[in-house]
Amino acid sequence: MPPFKLLAKYIEPETHHDTRAPRSNFQRLSVAHLSSLLRSHCACGVDTHAHVIPFEFPSFLGAAAPSGWPSMAPADACHRQVIIDGKNYRTVSDKCWSTSRRLADFADMGLALQAISPMPELLSYWLKAADGAVLVRYLNDQIAAMVAESGGQLIGLGAVPLQDIDLAIKELEYLRRTPGFAGVEIGSNINGMVIGDLRLDPFFEACEALDMAVFVHALRPTGMDRLIGPPPLQQVLAYPTDVGLAAASALTSNLILRRPRLRMAFSHGGGTLAMLLPRLEQAISVFPALRESVLQSPTAQARQFFYDTLVFDEATLKHLVHCFGDTQLMIGTDYPFNFHDDQPVARLEAASLTPEALQRMTQGNASRFLGLPLLDTTTTPPSSNPRPPTT
Ligand SMILES: [Zn+2]
Repeated sequence: MPPFKLLAKYIEPETHHDTRAPRSNFQRLSVAHLSSLLRSHCACGVDTHAHVIPFEFPSFLGAAAPSGWPSMAPADACHRQVIIDGKNYRTVSDKCWSTSRRLADFADMGLALQAISPMPELLSYWLKAADGAVLVRYLNDQIAAMVAESGGQLIGLGAVPLQDIDLAIKELEYLRRTPGFAGVEIGSNINGMVIGDLRLDPFFEACEALDMAVFVHALRPTGMDRLIGPPPLQQVLAYPTDVGLAAASALTSNLILRRPRLRMAFSHGGGTLAMLLPRLEQAISVFPALRESVLQSPTAQARQFFYDTLVFDEATLKHLVHCFGDTQLMIGTDYPFNFHDDQPVARLEAASLTPEALQRMTQGNASRFLGLPLLDTTTTPPSSNPRPPTT
């Protein structure tokens, strides 16, 4: 698939009718830069799920750093250790903080653009809100700097201290004013509070009003006591459950009906949601209380959210298309962690999608989710109610 169509739109003059500050510097791509991308194998993908860890963290300014305040320690060669509570939380490479090292991998991965968000553990909802606000502001400024030096190949999904809704909205407003951010990353639960909880509504109302995308990433998942094996099983086995329950809570609380202009995406293919949806549809016909509380078909609601394609399997990918529609799926890689998908575009190409679906899932849907002025004109907005409730 030639990347020209998408990239040509990058260099078009700003046509967005919005009079607020430009969302990004995509219009500043140089001709030389464009030419270099055209020479690459397939630099056409838009990755919505990739992470950042800064080279270092600020020292805590109080008497003693609270539990959960991160720091960095040297490791071998180009690696460093993220230290949390005196332990090595994760050893990571310089691709986490080096923009040039990150961009050097784009051609092999087939990427033109990547949305970068903090490593989820850094969202730090367990810190006091004032401390969390300091930490996420530092992260956001680091992300802004990486976006600024990327030549239009990175865009930010920032962090907000959601343990305090008012502070979170203030940080959201800061992100909206700061060049280079398309939205925020939030956890699949906020210290146990699920995404559909009405207490989060003022924040989502602000996201809708400020036109900021919301990427929901699995975080500190439930079910950890049911795992047998080493710590990485948290990401491998428990993340999909937590993000699936997060998405399900959005459906059973009618979030998208309350906030119809909210652009929200769920990580890891929506986790278990695709398996839960038929059960929810069937349950509506069985349980009157559920029929009264869920105001629109769960499937119809689910098809108004976005999901990444980070499922490592073509058959599963096709099932996600069946469940959510090819207008709602977009590339996610978990770059640059070792458990990431390093061939996201090739995997889509191998899934026997129609050319139109392939283009949507490679770039068009992500552009729509991120609110970028390079919408794929072949992308059809989802029907508001493609499947009526089975009542
Ligand atoms: Zn991730």
